[in-house]
Amino acid sequence: IAKYQGKNVVLVYSAELHKQHQDMSEMEQQFREAIEKNHLSLHVQPIVDLKTGDIVKCEALARWKKADGSFVSPEVFIPLAERTDLIFPFGEWLIAEACSAIEKLKAASLDIRLAINISGRQVADLALLKQIQTALKNRYIDPNNLSIELTESVFIDSLDTVSILLNELRSMGITISIDDFGTGFCSLVYLKKLPIDELKIDRSFVSELENNTDDQAIIQAILGLADNLNINIIAEGIENAAQQNFLLAHNCAFGQGYLFERPQSVESFIDKINK
Ligand code: C2E
Ligand code: MG
Ligand code: MG
Ligand code: MG
Repeated sequence: IAKYQGKNVVLVYSAELHKQHQDMSEMEQQFREAIEKNHLSLHVQPIVDLKTGDIVKCEALARWKKADGSFVSPEVFIPLAERTDLIFPFGEWLIAEACSAIEKLKAASLDIRLAINISGRQVADLALLKQIQTALKNRYIDPNNLSIELTESVFIDSLDTVSILLNELRSMGITISIDDFGTGFCSLVYLKKLPIDELKIDRSFVSELENNTDDQAIIQAILGLADNLNINIIAEGIENAAQQNFLLAHNCAFGQGYLFERPQSVESFIDKINK
């Protein structure tokens, strides 16, 4: 009987796994199609000067709306793209789409940088450099209108390649930010060795900032570090005035969050600005 039970367990597991694999490859197939058929879109969210409220920059955030009208979060499809090779065609799409967004913003007299998120697998490959250079050149886009956000997991094993790539991008006029700072694997040495213009304090340190003294201490430490290293700071996920006021009181210059604007289409963002 024990044997039978054992066998049953194995069967249950494999059916479960089989189902998971099926769901996965189905989603992979759908995502591949979404890239090919251009069913993805970009939203933008402004980054503001916390003192004046002036928009200093925008971040581009990818959106995938499925045929049934439901949205798949980038927290799901970006890891999926990274696990498969779809991150490369996705990267092509993203850069092209970012160029279009920059054109639209410029046409609306918003001569600011648009930040795109670049994932670990992309930045470990020098092909990304060529991709960006070619796209900017073909579309006559000024590199001073582009910025790149890297998550800290990027830096784990390919520091040399990353360093070459970042220095090239920076010499073109593109600025470099480290995203989600404080949550990943970023060693402080990298801040010294890599050409970093800016750190983005992860939303998880901001969301309970007003009641959590640990978060307050961490944020003050990051602000002090950045000040001494001459690096800009953007606080992510600011949702209320108490958070904004704490950040302002501790000389955090820039912020992003629902308190200012939600991510939205370039068109709706431009409409709002023009009102
Ligand atoms: P991220 O780069 O840290 O982007 C900020 C995320 O916080 C976005 O989530 C944004 O919608 C959300 N957010 C902004 N302000 C607030 C706020 O006040 N409150 C709250 N609760 N959330 C806020 P989103 O768009 O779901 O993106 C999630 C992550 O997916 C991004 O985190 C980024 O790591 C990744 N991602 C998005 N688009 C791309 C892309 O084109 N390429 C790559 N490689 N990753 C992307
Ligand atoms: Mg980002
Ligand atoms: Mg971020
Ligand atoms: Mg974050």
